[in-house]
Amino acid sequence: MRDSIEATKSQSLYALGADNRRPFLPGEVVLIGAGPGDVELLTVRAYKLIQEADCIVYDRLVSEDVMALAAESAECIYVGKQSADHALPQEEINKLLIEKAKAGHKVARLKGGDSFIFGRGGEEIQMLLDAGVPCRVVPGITAASACTTYSGIPLTHRDYVHGCTFVTGHLKNDLLDLPWEALARDDHTLVVYMGIKTAGVLSKSLMDHQLSGETPVALISDGTSLTHRSYKTTLAKLPEFILANAIKAPTLIVIGNVVNALDVSKKMDVYRQMDVNDQVKPIIGNWAQSRIKTVQGLSV
Ligand code: SAH
Repeated sequence: MRDSIEATKSQSLYALGADNRRPFLPGEVVLIGAGPGDVELLTVRAYKLIQEADCIVYDRLVSEDVMALAAESAECIYVGKQSADHALPQEEINKLLIEKAKAGHKVARLKGGDSFIFGRGGEEIQMLLDAGVPCRVVPGITAASACTTYSGIPLTHRDYVHGCTFVTGHLKNDLLDLPWEALARDDHTLVVYMGIKTAGVLSKSLMDHQLSGETPVALISDGTSLTHRSYKTTLAKLPEFILANAIKAPTLIVIGNVVNALDVSKKMDVYRQMDVNDQVKPIIGNWAQSRIKTVQGLSV
């Protein structure tokens, strides 16, 4: 009981989200998860606060459709990466957020997906807390959840897996240092963010730890946008598949039997019969590769 009282004190981290039901305050920074791209996947709160903000600091993965919600008078500052370079180093972003908040702006800090999932949201919010800037966080739909759903893949399915792990494929000190033994399991879904460049190491390390080279792998690029593309391959073929298809970031890699768990082949037929195709963007079943066999022996 005592613990729960402690947890609701305003100084606790819990307060970052607990006092969220109010309008934007001048001088405040709100870290907003802008979702994976499809503007309709924003939370209602994100939607409201983006419109209320008078200064928006945003990253590369925030979609144009989301940015189109900003007030016309809002100052929109891009701080994302331009190819390999940071447009603005993290310390500069920190300074900018503090400066804009102290000047009395309503500062929306927009990041793709969820700010606390491989988004450096933890670092930025800590910096704001340390600087005494009022701040809160609005969660967003992370790529793992949205990209898979839009590709007809359930992240977990009790017939196939007991759990799901999110890892980063980003190198640290030139190493992809992941707990391979724990990850190389066929009763588990592995989702890799930022894994395109290191897919060779990923594939080899998992196979070296006895995960079958036949394990299904999905690659989902520009997930949930109108150019959403889904591909299927296997763990052994992953590196050459990425090269052969010139797959680039942002792409999510999903490894595990859930990739073939659903048969979505009939979905578009149903919509065709309902004659709503003009209104529905056909994303599920729109696999960029030629027809691929699923577990059930049907093709999608
Ligand atoms: N905070 C973000 C992740 C940022 S890390 C989130 O919660 O989704 C950036 C990586 O996320 C990309 O390299 C890619 O692996 C993945 N990603 C983010 N958005 C994506 C999208 N729309 N389609 C495919 N992958 C995406």
